[in-house]
Amino acid sequence: MFGLMQQRPRLVSSLITHAARHHATAEVVSKTVEGPVHRYSYADAERRARRLVRALQRLGVGQQDRVGTLAWNGFRHFELYYATAGMGAIGHTINPRLFPDQIAYIINHAGDRVLFADTSFAKLVETLAPRIAGSVGAVVMMTDAAHLPELSLPAGMALHCFEDLMAAADEDYEWPEFDETTASALCYTSGTTGQPRGVLYSHRSTVLHAMTIALPDVMGLRAADRVMPVVPMFHVNAWGIPYAAPMIGAPLVFPGPHLAGEPLQTLMNEERVTFAAGVPTIWMGLLQHLRTSGARLDTVERLVIGGSACPRMLMEAFSDEYGVRVDHAWGMTEMSPVGTFNAPKATNADVEGEEGMRRRMKQGRAVFGVDMKIVGADGRELPWDGTSFGDLYVRGPWVCSAYFREEPDGLSHDEEGWFRTGDVATIDADGYMEITDRSKDVIKSGGEWISSIALENIAVAHPDVAEAAVVASHHPVWDERPLLIVVPKPGCRPEPEELLRHFEGKVAKWWIPDGAVIVEELPHTATGKLLKMALRDRYREHYLPDSGAAE
Ligand code: AMP
Repeated sequence: MFGLMQQRPRLVSSLITHAARHHATAEVVSKTVEGPVHRYSYADAERRARRLVRALQRLGVGQQDRVGTLAWNGFRHFELYYATAGMGAIGHTINPRLFPDQIAYIINHAGDRVLFADTSFAKLVETLAPRIAGSVGAVVMMTDAAHLPELSLPAGMALHCFEDLMAAADEDYEWPEFDETTASALCYTSGTTGQPRGVLYSHRSTVLHAMTIALPDVMGLRAADRVMPVVPMFHVNAWGIPYAAPMIGAPLVFPGPHLAGEPLQTLMNEERVTFAAGVPTIWMGLLQHLRTSGARLDTVERLVIGGSACPRMLMEAFSDEYGVRVDHAWGMTEMSPVGTFNAPKATNADVEGEEGMRRRMKQGRAVFGVDMKIVGADGRELPWDGTSFGDLYVRGPWVCSAYFREEPDGLSHDEEGWFRTGDVATIDADGYMEITDRSKDVIKSGGEWISSIALENIAVAHPDVAEAAVVASHHPVWDERPLLIVVPKPGCRPEPEELLRHFEGKVAKWWIPDGAVIVEELPHTATGKLLKMALRDRYREHYLPDSGAAE
């Protein structure tokens, strides 16, 4: 017997139509590429998204066609999110920080028919154009006629102006209903190794994920919040916030390309932002600006940090110096992205001091919908004791089941369909997961595993250290030993021996790196993560006898 409840599909368009109907005047504010602040309401955004569907149709975009975007967080990108998914096409957000070769590969692999781009990417589009001409038939610059740059494109690739297309379209479109498992959006993983891989979200996964991230023990979004996704809309849909905020009716504030500390702080105060989300690098920049300028955050109550491990000092500094709570979250492109969020339980909410901090630094506990397990080298599940660490697997309705246009290779999922995250983690008795490493970054010393992240966290707590990486270097006896690579703070010249002494008493003796190297900068991926592969290659032989540096 079936229940007698209405069968309404969970469609992305329902998020914006809900906002337009029930939160019609809630604002969407954008600091534009051109500079001025643009503001309108959810009702305006929904109307323009319908108009945009008509424009897309005139460009020949049909069901399940891919529409690429090279764009910052802003209102036109937001409209594209809803117009593409809402009409049954697929919005494909592209990370402009990747190398042009990778971007061209991604666009061709996705089969994008149309490419939308902010004017700041005009040169990039010109570089890409000859390489993507087989797939992309039209480029739309996301601006008005007054700001339209001149572009030289190959024959057959038309150039359009976003606002001209909008002016020529009408608003008569009605959002269609279709199966909620239809694909809605596409995003490629950043690809620190090998080619980027496509993750194809569905309407169902997107709406379920949005409902979950808004929950009180996750982002805890409220209609009275003013929400700033600093995490880019080209990186895992800005962690789902452009979907969750309209669902809640919370106003959105988009920072565009203005991501340095000073413009962020100004926009936050001017637009009375209460909640923002981003990667540690962004918050480091903001903190540095606050400290040097003496500026304050007038309205911000909460920051969410994810994408890489949250440095302890960031959590402490924002809370102690600025009264802003920092919460730690973990996820990945393949998980839409949120998997865990670190919120207290009744049993540990009052635990303060070092023990409380230890708990808050973890990546958090699984949100409803996501299940986790950790698995040892022998393939067996490990206990949740907070110390055993192994490969982390997840499953749930917003976890990818396969990559776009790839045959399953048997590596990304186990026989029961659990997705292999590539992270190595512990889970404690209360269910809090802590990443100890990426599986390829773990240092295997004499058959035991050493967490590079744990060592990096200790290193960056040293007063002279701006950034640190710990990588495995071959060792004649132990197979691999940790090597510390440090970028000092401006004006500081720490001695390697002194940096190594800093680890004493903080980790087991055999975890302490055997050597330290001082460098001017560390390589990063397009999404700001440390490019460990490049460092491993460079320092692979550091401890071998003929490298001259062996211990
Ligand atoms: P991406 O798909 O580019 O978002 O990268 C996902 C990966 O980023 C994860 O598998 C983790 O290795 C890393 N990551 C994300 N959030 C965190 C976090 N809070 N702490 C440590 N690593 C993280």
